[in-house]
Amino acid sequence: MSEATTSGGAGGITTAGLEQWIRSFARLIAENKDYLTELDSAIGDGDHGANMDRGMHAVLAKLDQNSPASPSALFKSVGMTLVSTVGGASGPLFGTLFLRVGTSLADTEDVSLLDLAKALRAGLEGIVARGKAQAGDKTMFDALSPVVEVLEAAAAEDAELATALGRALAAAEAGRDATSPMVARKGRASYLGERSAGHLDPGATTVALLVNAAAGLGRS
Ligand code: ADP
Ligand code: MG
Repeated sequence: MSEATTSGGAGGITTAGLEQWIRSFARLIAENKDYLTELDSAIGDGDHGANMDRGMHAVLAKLDQNSPASPSALFKSVGMTLVSTVGGASGPLFGTLFLRVGTSLADTEDVSLLDLAKALRAGLEGIVARGKAQAGDKTMFDALSPVVEVLEAAAAEDAELATALGRALAAAEAGRDATSPMVARKGRASYLGERSAGHLDPGATTVALLVNAAAGLGRS
């Protein structure tokens, strides 16, 4: 992908670049569907990969029909599609993440690092408002929260977008890996109590894929 597709005049990410992010996230979900299902089989009901893949297929079908005109329209559409096509905990939670990101980016054309940090902070707050997860509960929160912190810090020091996204990916992967020893306190995995320890959280793994797709924009 050329710089022109992903970078706006002021170095922000264009709507086309953001659509590319969502499309590569969908591809990573499809590639990792069985893996996510395996993770969810160990501490849940084994549907996380299928849930997310169904949702992202619906998202792709909608994008193929027409490309949203703004970042806000794009993320709101992704959020609404996930809420309406994905069951379980993850549909409403990932749906809320994208819906809040979309609301936060209202009136934004090219998304700067600061815009992205603020939007993901709003998305994280939406997840917490809905699911009440805290740090250490072994959920998607544990991968997303460090990402938001890293992006906020990078924006404060005016870092390059690609640099910030690289740090965000490292934070997401560390956050994901940190869920393994945790005992789940939210969602289905919490029914297992101590037996939930020793397995990665599926939702946190999906968050790492989302950030991996974003970091891919910076790499290309
Ligand atoms: P379900 O648990 O309904 O089968 P999924 O398997 O699709 O839904 O998603 C499970 C993931 O959802 C978990 O790995 C966890 O990251 C996330 N999750 C579950 N409950 C919560 C919550 N209350 N807050 C944040 N994330 C949660
Ligand atoms: Mg499940």
